[in-house]
Amino acid sequence: MQQAGAQRCGPAASAPARPCGARRGPSATSSSGAANASKPDPEQPALAGALPPFYPAADTADVAIVGAGPAGLALAAELAGQGLSVALVSLESKFVNNYGVWLDEFQELGLTHTLDAVWDDAVCYFKEQQLVRVGRPYGRVCRRRLRQHLLDRCVAAGVRFVEAEVDTASSAADSQAAELRLTDGRTVRCRLPVLASGVAAGKLLRYEDGVPPVAAQTAYGIEAEVEGYADNYPADAMLFMDFRRHHTGLYNGTASRQQPGKSQHGGDGLWGSEGEVPSFLYAMPLGGNRVFLVALTVLLTALVLQVPSFLYAMPLGGNRVFLEETCLVARPPMPFATLKRRLERRCKALGIKIGELHEEEWSYIPVGGPLPLPDQPAAAFGAAASLVHPATGYSITRSLREAPAVARAVRVALDEQPSSAAAVRFVWEALWTQERRRQASFQVFGMELLCQLDTRATADFFTTFFRLPASFWRGFLASKLSSVDLLSFAMLTWVLAPPNIKAKLVTHFVTDPSGRYMLDAYTGKNREQWEQPGSNGSSGSGSSGSSAVQLPAAAAGMLALQQLAQAAAERAV
Ligand SMILES: Cc1cc2nc3c(=O)[nH]c(=O)nc-3n(C[C@H](O)[C@H](O)[C@H](O)COP(=O)(O)OP(=O)(O)OC[C@H]3O[C@@H](n4cnc5c(N)ncnc54)[C@H](O)[C@@H]3O)c2cc1C
Repeated sequence: MQQAGAQRCGPAASAPARPCGARRGPSATSSSGAANASKPDPEQPALAGALPPFYPAADTADVAIVGAGPAGLALAAELAGQGLSVALVSLESKFVNNYGVWLDEFQELGLTHTLDAVWDDAVCYFKEQQLVRVGRPYGRVCRRRLRQHLLDRCVAAGVRFVEAEVDTASSAADSQAAELRLTDGRTVRCRLPVLASGVAAGKLLRYEDGVPPVAAQTAYGIEAEVEGYADNYPADAMLFMDFRRHHTGLYNGTASRQQPGKSQHGGDGLWGSEGEVPSFLYAMPLGGNRVFLVALTVLLTALVLQVPSFLYAMPLGGNRVFLEETCLVARPPMPFATLKRRLERRCKALGIKIGELHEEEWSYIPVGGPLPLPDQPAAAFGAAASLVHPATGYSITRSLREAPAVARAVRVALDEQPSSAAAVRFVWEALWTQERRRQASFQVFGMELLCQLDTRATADFFTTFFRLPASFWRGFLASKLSSVDLLSFAMLTWVLAPPNIKAKLVTHFVTDPSGRYMLDAYTGKNREQWEQPGSNGSSGSGSSGSSAVQLPAAAAGMLALQQLAQAAAERAV
């Protein structure tokens, strides 16, 4: 591990990508996923070369794990380490995401040797000239080292591999065996199937009904040689969030000279977000639908401009920096084209010149939405099991931390349950206890609030968040606060927050469906769907279309208009 040491990656992937509506499942991620997955890295070995083969026609495994991401590999190693026979069924895939983690969490897991850069601190900017030091070291995961570490554990424990794409999963109530049907026509038999296939698992799972739909975190990033980064940001810290609006209202190279009250744009870091003179569109429809499309594009631009995004950056030593424009959460998702434009505009305003480009990243992370129900064709783990933090999009540390406990639950399920279907349910109940569903409902409530905050309110919210005692905000980010702790967290946030955030918290709780969702989880009213075997739920992606949330009519109308405008504008870009 080295300070800001850089792993050399392959040439920049060229395929651009845009998300559509916020969804779980392959359709949502195919374009961004394909672009990311095409990042070449010859140093990561093929799974088929590293692991001994599993022969579906000849063998039945105790557990079949679908997917060889961090969650799948970690769980496979744990289970095989307990003496179970484990078949890893996955597409031949490598780790491609640029993972960032809090150092103390990776220390707890004994994984610091898998980091390729560490910073003693992380910093944020919410307003001009207000640098917030988080006071917590951060690290970048060397994806090759992490994958190799997990693969070595799988090899040592005896995990076997079959390269295949899983099409469907089934576990019968009257049978000890379950089946995974593969797209090449073969079938993998096992006593317990576990989906660790990331967000693509959404199409195979059923979700709670009547819950706010899935939203998405999107980000566009580059790793490049740059000039001018150190003129704007401390080079010895990573930049966790810069919410200032350098992408709007500033001339090239002028951002670093902005001072509060000394610029015609205000210099408060919120240029253009308030006090703007309203204007309107004057249009003459002259035949065809061109004017209509232009009007919709303008409307969308106005709507998208209100959605905050921030710069996340990792100085990697020398002039090499990873820069990523991130929209923390939005529904519909912020398009990659918008994020890319903002990143370019922001760099120009800061006087940061981009030189050689090493890599691009398109990140699409579905967040929030309904939780899976326990009567499923398969158990799940990692992002597939909705372990992604709704308000941050992080999941990797949580999956690695929870793998041993989930492996123990699988072991007990196999020892004690009479059928494959009962074992699957047992694992879901261990993973998503009522306490954990309360915690998740709280996180969804927070995420839905963030979805609705404009730039100024977002800055006010995070300034308050980082003023909380560290145990609170760290615990919240790490999904470690109990449902009772979370109530104390909420009360203290309310006490410390400025009046605009106090008011928003109260109105959000009273009027937003996520307030009701949280209340139902805390009072146990949500148990009904969970406890009824085979209750209908919403099948497939758990996307906005299938979960029937009772939105107020005006809100539903606005949402529909926003989605329509975005779709039209994306076609027009
Ligand atoms: C670009 C990006 C950056 C991210 N950065 C961070 C970060 O910094 N920190 C953090 O905590 N989280 C981050 N996340 C979120 C999350 O942690 C990752 O998505 C993480 O990879 C999820 O791990 P997983 O093992 O659950 O699933 P995945 O990593 O998505 O792995 C899924 C596996 O399943 C396989 N698969 C999929 N479908 C099938 C099928 N039908 N049959 C067989 N195999 C299949 C895939 O090939 C893959 O091997 C990021 C996400 C993205 C997209």
